[in-house]
Formats: sequence, C-alpha cells, structure tokens
Amino acid sequence: MEIENVKAIGVVGAGTMGHGIAQTCGGAGFAVYLVDVDRGILEKALRLIREGPFGLMKFVEKGKLSLSQVDDIVERIKITTDYDEFCEHVDAVIEAVPEDPGLKKKIFKVLDEKCPEKTVLASNTSGIMISELATAVKRKERFVGMHWFNPAPLMPLVEVIRGPLTSDETFNIVIELSRKMGKTPIEAKDGPGFYTTRFIAAYLFEAIRLFESGVADVKGIDEMTKLAFRHPMGPFELMDLIGLDTMLHVGEYIYNTVHEPQYAPPLLLRKLVLSGYLGDSRFKPGSRGGWLDYFKVAKP
Ligand code: NAD
Repeated sequence: MEIENVKAIGVVGAGTMGHGIAQTCGGAGFAVYLVDVDRGILEKALRLIREGPFGLMKFVEKGKLSLSQVDDIVERIKITTDYDEFCEHVDAVIEAVPEDPGLKKKIFKVLDEKCPEKTVLASNTSGIMISELATAVKRKERFVGMHWFNPAPLMPLVEVIRGPLTSDETFNIVIELSRKMGKTPIEAKDGPGFYTTRFIAAYLFEAIRLFESGVADVKGIDEMTKLAFRHPMGPFELMDLIGLDTMLHVGEYIYNTVHEPQYAPPLLLRKLVLSGYLGDSRFKPGSRGGWLDYFKVAKP
C-alpha cells in the first residue's frame, strides 16, 4: 500500500495516549475510528480531545485553529466499542492499550483476523519488542512499532521500530504518516524499551531510588532536575503524566528481558500502583492521583 491510500486510521484504546493520537490523526485530515471497551471512556476521550489540557481548544486560544476547524476535526473522529465496525474501515491501525504483552497480542490477533488484508498494524508500545507482538499476527510484513510521546498532540518525536519481518513499504508508510502529522520520525532498533524507554526508565527509577534513600524529597528532586538540567518537568511530575502503572509495566518488561538492575522497578512505585495511584487523575480515569498527590506536593 502507498501512503496516498491511507485515508482512515484506527486507534485502539482511548486512554492517555489513544485520545491524543486520535486528535493528532484527525488534525492531519484523516478519518479516525477510535475503539475502546467502554462507551464512557470514549465519550471522555472526545471531551479531552476538544477541551482537555492538550485539547483542540488550547490551539484555538493560541490562534492556531478556528472553532469551525475544531468542529471538523471532532466530526472526523468516530467512536465505537465494536471491533467489526472498527476494522471494516481502517487502512492503518495504531494500538494504544495498556502495556501488557498478553492483552496486546490478544487484540492484534483480532485485528489481524478482522481488518482488510492491506491494513498496516502499528503498536504504540513503550517497549515490548515488536518481534514479540508480531507473533500474534499473520501479516508480519505489515506490522511495525510507532512509538508516540505524551502529550501526543504536542511532542514532536515518533520512534519507528521495525521487526525482523517488517517490509520496507510498511516502514516507509509509518515514516510518511508521522511526517504528515507534523512529527519527526526516527528509527530505533527492536529491543526491550527501544531507545527512548530504556533511557527514561533508568533515569526515572534512579530518581525514585534517590528519594527512597533520602537524598532529597519529591519536590526537591523535581525542582533540582528542572533548574540544574533545564528539563521542562521533574521526574515525579513526568511519571504522573506518563502513568505510574505504565512505568511499572515498562520496567518489569525491560528488567525481565535484559536482567540489568537499573531497570528493576523500585518497590515504592509498585506500592503506589497497588494502592490505586496510577498518575494524574486528569488523564487517568479512576486514578487516586500520582506522586505529587500522594506526597501532597503542589502541582506546578
Ligand atoms: P491508558 O491506561 O491511559 O489507556 C489504555 C486504554 O486502553 C484504556 O482506555 C482502556 O480502557 C483501553 N483498553 C483496554 N483494553 C482494551 C481493549 N481490549 N480494546 C480496546 N481498548 C482497550 O494507557 P496509555 O498511557 O494510553 O498507554 C497505552 C500504550 O501507550 C501503552 O502501551 C503505553 O506503554 C504506551 N505509551 C504510553 C505513554 C504515556 O506517557 N502514557 C507514552 C508512550 C507510549
């Protein structure tokens, strides 16, 4: 398939990443189909796309979009809980369900069975090997990693990962799609965590370990990171945005694959996730909050 033939993009999972990816695809003029398990989640996603902290109205405030453009984009995004309806229309799919290899493989098997033969299947996994996810599908040459960053409408990078059997055609479609969406695609080789997630997991877990060992408090670590290194967010603030459960799953997967201690999720992260602290509740429905909420640090 050529990039010109990609008219409709399917996004699986309407959570933190999925709604932002759907917004970006809609903004680039594609017809978008967004599927999730629950109608309430999908309706919340549409509200976030319009009015959320990184939603379309923020672009109106900055003079980058008109109200009628916002209406057009939202109009292009169809929501559904029905995989048959979803699969019927899509030329390319971007999967953004939780970072659980078993769940992702189950979904890819369904997508492989129900989507048209030509449809390209991409995963927004943070770090599960593309070779592993591709075991769930027959169309291994049309399977690829398309790793976005949070918040999807704003972050410029897309990390593109080909599995050993991904075709050049599929790889090039994802490169071109990323460019059409105003992103900069860069290739990383397949491996647990690719480049960006391996790097960020080691850095974020080190911040937690330094906090656990009493070097500084949560607020101090965030402030020092911003002031010393010009990072736009401190590590705890960033984890609240990414999702604590996502970081836990990512760490478990990388650690269990490479057995290097810097990727082992710290106990405190596990305790917070087990206690329902999954990240900033503005992005994570049902979360009790993130690090800043648990340690009662004022949000910047
Ligand atoms: P999330 O928990 O916010 O959203 C996941 C969504 O998937 C939920 O809405 C859930 O209802 C839905 N879902 C679960 N099972 C489903 C099914 N069978 N069919 C359809 N939808 C289903 O997770 P997230 O943070 O958006 O992460 C999604 C993926 O993106 C993960 O692989 C994660 O590692 C990756 N990722 C996350 C970030 C981040 O900063 N959060 C950044 C880059 C990549």
